[in-house]
Amino acid sequence: MNDVFMKTYNRLPVIFEKGKGAWLTGTDGKEYLDFTSGIAVNCLGHANPALLNAISEQAGKLMHVCNYYKTDTATLFADKLVSACAGGGMKNVFLANSGAEANEGACKIARKYSLMKYGKGRHTIVTLLGSFHGRTITTLSATGQESFHKDFGPYTEGFVFIEPGDTEALDRALDKNTVAGFFIEPIQGESGIKPMTQEYMDFAAKLCAERDILFMLDEIQTGVGRTGKFLAGELYGVKPDIVTLAKGLGGGIPVGAVLAGEKTAEVFQPGDHGSTFGGNSLAAAAGLVVLDTVTKPDFLADITRKGELIKDTIISWKHPKVTVVRGKGLMIGVDITIDAWPVLEIALKENPGLLLLTAGKQTLRFLPPYIISDGEIEQGLNILKKIL
Ligand code: PLP
Repeated sequence: MNDVFMKTYNRLPVIFEKGKGAWLTGTDGKEYLDFTSGIAVNCLGHANPALLNAISEQAGKLMHVCNYYKTDTATLFADKLVSACAGGGMKNVFLANSGAEANEGACKIARKYSLMKYGKGRHTIVTLLGSFHGRTITTLSATGQESFHKDFGPYTEGFVFIEPGDTEALDRALDKNTVAGFFIEPIQGESGIKPMTQEYMDFAAKLCAERDILFMLDEIQTGVGRTGKFLAGELYGVKPDIVTLAKGLGGGIPVGAVLAGEKTAEVFQPGDHGSTFGGNSLAAAAGLVVLDTVTKPDFLADITRKGELIKDTIISWKHPKVTVVRGKGLMIGVDITIDAWPVLEIALKENPGLLLLTAGKQTLRFLPPYIISDGEIEQGLNILKKIL
C-alpha cells in the first residue's frame, strides 16, 4: 500500500490494531507495553470500560449540537471541571478540542484583558526558552525553541522568550507597560521534563500579581492528574489567572479547555471566540469519566506512588548510562548518555515490545497510563534495563 500520510511524523515500524489497559496489540498480533499513553492522552488506559460505556451511551443519545445551545452533558462536565480547578482559583471555562486551540484561547484572553484595561500596545506575552505550546502559527510563535521558527513565517508578533529559572531576566521581561501575560509550563514536557523551581514559580506569581500581568499556566501535559495533583500548579501552591488543559482530559477523545480565574472570567463576551466541535456532548461524556476518576484523592496519591516507584527503581540500578531521573507523578524524564531515539527503536523490537518517548536527544520520557499496575511497571523497566 502507498503511504498517503504527509511526512509530518518519524513513524516507528508498527501498525496498531487494538489496546487494553496498558497494552497495545499490533496487526501482527504482537503485544506492546505502553509507557506513553499516546503522549499523556490515554490516561485511563486503552478500552477503559467506564469510558467505553459513557461514550457509547452518549453517542446513542446525542453527540453534537451547535454552540447556540447548551447540552446537559457538557454543562455537567464544565461544572465538574471548574470545580476540579477551583483550588487553582478557576471560575469558568471555554471548551475546545486540542492543546494548541486551548492555548490560542488563552493568548486571546490575555490580550483582550490588557486592551480593555490599559489600551493598545500592552500585548506582549512572555514565554520560556525550551517551552512548547503547540503547532498553530500563534502557538509556534509562543514556543521558545528556534527550531520551530524557521519555515512558516511570518509568525504572530508579540512573543518574547526568556531563560527559565532566571528571576532577573523575568523581572526585566515583565514590563508592566508592554506585557499582557507570562505563559509557562510548570514542568516543561517536550524539552525534557524540566520542573520549574518553587522559588521561580513564587517569584513569577508575585511579580505578575504586582504588575497586573496575567500568570498563565500551560497544563496541557502536566494537568489532569499527571503529576499526582489535578493541576501541577497545586504542587507549587500558586493561583494562576488562566490555565489550559487538553491531552488526558478526554482520556483519548479530543477535549481542550481554557480556564479563567477571577480577573479573566468576564473577558470573553459573545462573538469573541468559538469552536464548532468544542465541548460537544460526546467529548464531554468522555471528560466526565476522566474527571470522576482523576479527582479522587486516593487515585491521585497512587499516581504519585507509582511515579516514585519508577524513579526509585531506575535510581537503584545505578546504571552507568543513566545520569539523571526527574519528574513528578507519572511524568518522568530519564537522562541517558546515549541517544534516546535508538532506545525506542530497540524497545519496540523486544517481545513483548515497550513503547517509550523521547524528550530531547538524550532524554527518555515516561508518561504511562495512570492505571498501569506495579507488575507492569516492573516488566517495562526490566525491558529498559536490558536494552540499556
Ligand atoms: N502545550 C504543551 C505543554 C504540550 O505538551 C502540547 C503538546 O504536546 C501542546 C501544548 C499542544 O497540544 P496539541 O498537540 O493538543 O495541540
